[in-house]
Amino acid sequence: MGVKDGGKVPQQDNSNGYKGLIYYMMTIMIITILLNGLIFPSVVKQKVVEVGYNDFLTMVDQGKVQKLERGEDSIMFIAEDASGRQQVYKTGRWDDPNLTERLYRAGVEFGEVIPQKESVIMSFFTNWILPIGIMIALGQIMSRMMAKKMGGNAMTFGKSNAKIYAENETGKTFADVAGQEEAKEALKEIVDFLHDPKKYSDIGATLPKGALLVGPPGTGKTLLAKAVAGEAHVPFFSISGSEFVEMFVGMGAAKVRDLFKQANEKAPCIVFIDEIDTIGKKRDGSGMGGNDEREQTLNQLLTEMDGFDGKKGVVILAATNRPETLDQALLRPGRFDRRIPVELPDLKGREAILRVHARNVKMDDTVDFNAVARATSGASGAELANIVNEAALRAVRMGRKVVCQADLEESVETVIAGYQRKDAAVSENEKRIVAYHEIGHALVAACQSNSAPVHKITIVPRTSGALGYTMQVESGERFLMSKEEALNKIATLTGGRAAEEFMFGSITTGASNDIEQATKLARAMVTRYGMSDQFGMVALETVTNQYLGGDTSLACAPETAKAVDDEVIRTVKAQYDKAMQILRDHAGKLNELSEYLLEKETITGEEFMEILNRQQ
Ligand code: ADP
Ligand code: MG
Ligand code: ZN
Repeated sequence: MGVKDGGKVPQQDNSNGYKGLIYYMMTIMIITILLNGLIFPSVVKQKVVEVGYNDFLTMVDQGKVQKLERGEDSIMFIAEDASGRQQVYKTGRWDDPNLTERLYRAGVEFGEVIPQKESVIMSFFTNWILPIGIMIALGQIMSRMMAKKMGGNAMTFGKSNAKIYAENETGKTFADVAGQEEAKEALKEIVDFLHDPKKYSDIGATLPKGALLVGPPGTGKTLLAKAVAGEAHVPFFSISGSEFVEMFVGMGAAKVRDLFKQANEKAPCIVFIDEIDTIGKKRDGSGMGGNDEREQTLNQLLTEMDGFDGKKGVVILAATNRPETLDQALLRPGRFDRRIPVELPDLKGREAILRVHARNVKMDDTVDFNAVARATSGASGAELANIVNEAALRAVRMGRKVVCQADLEESVETVIAGYQRKDAAVSENEKRIVAYHEIGHALVAACQSNSAPVHKITIVPRTSGALGYTMQVESGERFLMSKEEALNKIATLTGGRAAEEFMFGSITTGASNDIEQATKLARAMVTRYGMSDQFGMVALETVTNQYLGGDTSLACAPETAKAVDDEVIRTVKAQYDKAMQILRDHAGKLNELSEYLLEKETITGEEFMEILNRQQ
């Protein structure tokens, strides 16, 4: 009959809540007891000291007794003890007619001296109320400080314990996002909608409820989402997909519920779900219950997205770098139907990003952002931001007050290849091999294209493990690669190894990265670019992971796979032979350049070309 499994969800929820409460109370109790023992012992443990009647009289005569009370058969009094502190004493009551006069003479005050009487309430207060009060106050202050640090006000939601951080002002605008013009264009409409939802609802238009920002890591997706909120001056609720996936079953779904409830109250606003792929992965039909939690969270998200009124002005943005793994249900109309690509920046974009991040950095006029942008093909916005910061740090290290071009160039290498390891003990012999290897690359490249192939060649070892490094600078942005260029590139990549073999007759492990790249390119030529005569324009592989490393999976019969491998091997081999031939033809230059590099450790592209073109 109608018994639902779902019943267990709130239960789990609550027991977790109680547990937390009990832990909290126990912590407070323990701390209170400790406080009592350590900090307030004088208040709490004030004991009544019994003294003899004679001692009492001595104290009276010495003027130490301050206050006194006569009881039925005892006298209680307050007097200074040996160390000058107040102490409650008790002594027996004697029939002493002189006592009253004696007390008057000593100026003793009469009154109540019964510590126990008030201490029932007082001690409860000092033992319990006060410490607990202090604890609660401390907790409040701390949580407030935390919230301030997070740049917003922390809101803790009733049952689910979910903390969602809402920022009323993100402080970011589109001016902080350089390049990414298409993405900004697409988001401007959303900003406009948030400014004035009525304008849209009056005409009967509904804006898409959600937009999905897709692109490689570090391209500014999070930044863009914040900029939208900043431009529209609306609250910004952000939560990361991984936060939904919690230890306790049902928590993720509860968090989604809370998030949307809160957002609805604060509309117009933006809800931003970062790394949505962690909850939005395709649901599979296996039904073994392994991913129950994630599926519940995803289902809740879908329900909430359908449920709320799009006209109210709640816009949901999400970001991911693995769009291909997302569940189709998320992408259907009415949900994240708008997809905004946020790609790696092009040359112009890189220059603009460098400029944005250099706004608050003092730079002298040797700085050439265009040159840096050209040297950083393939770098993401986050890496470029890092480059500017590294350059500033280097300037400080060198004791300068402004950043110069050399700082930027060094930091480009640092970010790409790691820090220089000046102390690395590389033997003379290894250095020679590295020098020939790097010159091998450069020489093969130069002889094929007749232009400076590199910006800089260095054999200073790097912390990343690279022993040598060739910095390439494209003269402009390239979008297409011809078949000849692809083949030349493979030849260039094999040039390092070819130089080793040609010069020393033996080969080293130093070429592993070159081999990987050459193989990848050759493979792509055959399987994806349709550049092999044997297969022509047939896609034999599909890219499964566009933004993260570009993994591919084969989509062909095993026999074809074998033929593909053969073709790849043939292609690389042919280019290796070509590189070898070039090196043989220019053996003199190879020697000259390598020895020069060995001596200088770092040479520029101009120096390289100058030696290459010099007549012997
Ligand atoms: P993503 O969310 O795509 O992984 P982020 O938005 O977190 O990337 O970007 C990380 C940092 O990189 C940003 O805080 C910013 O400093 C910098 N950045 C990335 N892209 C840009 C850009 N287009 N313009 C300016 N800064 C950028
Ligand atoms: Mg991000
Ligand atoms: Zn190499």
